[in-house]
Amino acid sequence: MNIFSGHIRSSDTSVPMIDPFGRMVSYLRVSVTDRCDFRCTYCMSEHMTFLPKKELLTLEELERLCSAFIDKGVRKIRLTGGEPLVRHNIMYLVRALGRKVRHGELDELTLTTNGSQLARYAAELADNGVRRINVSIDTLDPTKFRKITRIGDLSKVLAGVDAAQKAGIHIKINAVALKDFNEDEIPEIMRWAHGRGMDLTVIETMPMGEIEEDRTDRYLPLSELRASLETQFTLRDNNYRTGGPSRYVTVKETGGRLGFITPLTHNFCESCNRVRLTCTGTLYMCLGQNDAAEFRDLMRSTDDDTVIARAIDEAITRKPKGHDFIIDRDHNRPAVARHMSMTGG
Ligand code: SAM
Ligand code: SF4
Repeated sequence: MNIFSGHIRSSDTSVPMIDPFGRMVSYLRVSVTDRCDFRCTYCMSEHMTFLPKKELLTLEELERLCSAFIDKGVRKIRLTGGEPLVRHNIMYLVRALGRKVRHGELDELTLTTNGSQLARYAAELADNGVRRINVSIDTLDPTKFRKITRIGDLSKVLAGVDAAQKAGIHIKINAVALKDFNEDEIPEIMRWAHGRGMDLTVIETMPMGEIEEDRTDRYLPLSELRASLETQFTLRDNNYRTGGPSRYVTVKETGGRLGFITPLTHNFCESCNRVRLTCTGTLYMCLGQNDAAEFRDLMRSTDDDTVIARAIDEAITRKPKGHDFIIDRDHNRPAVARHMSMTGG
């Protein structure tokens, strides 16, 4: 059956989103701001130019678009950025989406954060239905932490982790695996995370946006990292899934879970269930492709949500089969020009 046929289009607002490759889209990542209080060297350049505020969707507009996606079958929303917790009054959106969780319209509301503001917001996040979050920590050495983030204060992030755990929020730690930076530290980060009941996911660097460094110098294939970990630990493949692209193993010695996000060494596209919305209302159907659909002007031109639903349907017909990320000496340019902080990790 062709779900885009005229017969079914009459109820656009509630027709589920199934892409041309039969994948159902049920996961929306929303980058609520391109701004951040850190400048991680692999993510941003030191002197980033951020978007003028008037180009951003208001929080009310973000709420309206999220609701349109929920009506069309999205069950999980992740707020990201930039740093989601630096967006002014972000708790307005968290409260609005938290109500959707409470009413059973959304299974999960979560966020990915650098943790800098977590001590301040953890209790309120928990009160509004946030049960799990990802916190990005690439090193547990305060000096190295300052170096990689250019600004960050590790002690504040660790205080945020404490506050979130105290509020009952489950944490997964994300660490980007960087050659000659943290590759030898991953076992320590893993022992620390697992010792506190947190999963750890390691991520390969992705070629997104111009930065000062040469990414090939920092690129560490996770197949290499895994082989090195296997000399010290027993890693058992595990079927655990969070709806994201991580593939997990259980580490026998720690009893904890270790995830690998390997966009470059292992293509994770075949099971992709997600689309990404930027803070300006641009919908990317794939993290690694440039094709996009624009919602800001459309939304501002009408109060009719069926128009939005139809535009969502049209965008989903353009979801590509997969990304074209490559990092090697012959392709030493970003695969996509936008930074990860635009589309969200
Ligand atoms: N500021 C938040 C944070 O750092 O968690 C959320 C946004 S950040 C863009 C989301 C994730 O993307 C982080 O875990 C970050 O380490 C990762 N990231 C950023 N740039 C990346 C890149 N070029 N390749 C791989 N991961 C990247
Ligand atoms: Fe900010 Fe996150 Fe990018 Fe670091 S990775 S600069 S914390 S958006």
